[in-house]
Amino acid sequence: MTRVLVVEDDPQLVRALVINMRARQYGVDAAPDGTTALRLAAARRPDVVLLDLGLPDMDGVDVIRALRGWTRVPILVLSARRSSDEKAAALDAGADDYLTKPFGMGELLARLRAAVRRTEEVPLAPGTTVVTTDGFVVDLSAKRATRGGRDVPLTPTEWHLLEILVTNPGRLISRKHLLQEVWGAGRHSGTDHLRVHMARLRRKLEPDPAHPRHLITEPGTGYRFER
Ligand code: CA
Repeated sequence: MTRVLVVEDDPQLVRALVINMRARQYGVDAAPDGTTALRLAAARRPDVVLLDLGLPDMDGVDVIRALRGWTRVPILVLSARRSSDEKAAALDAGADDYLTKPFGMGELLARLRAAVRRTEEVPLAPGTTVVTTDGFVVDLSAKRATRGGRDVPLTPTEWHLLEILVTNPGRLISRKHLLQEVWGAGRHSGTDHLRVHMARLRRKLEPDPAHPRHLITEPGTGYRFER
């Protein structure tokens, strides 16, 4: 049974989440604040944490940091906060995914399944050097990307972006993180720059660049590689 820890101070939302998840055979614990959440996380060892950022006793981002001190449990943030800075702060603190309220139960459950599934496949197994999708192949040790057996020439910037994404399959990577990794710390603007490079990567690698299946944009937050 998959165990979920729901950290949320809105009792109606907790009730709806608990009913829906129990109906799908999830084991559910609920915490109304950050302190209870940290205690239950240690005591119950959930497989995934659903975390509201606006909690009565502490900031949800601090809950993420505290959890990341000792566990890699997937953390799916639920929040009414819409600013991309706050999303990025949650992701950079170690959250795996982000869902803005209000959300549909179907979407939540899909993200939950994806988060749990990823614990089985990420991070990339040590020693993995070739990542294969149905559209292209990335050879990490040779630093080569191929499509249909043919080399796809990539610029160093494109390669760096691609390398970060494909080594974190399924994981939402914030724009801030990509900008810092590729262009250096302290760079907080430049999202247009990033968008241009991602568009180029898609044109080179995606079978249908207008409808990317592997290099996915998460509006307002970042990018995600799906195999
Ligand atoms: Ca709240």
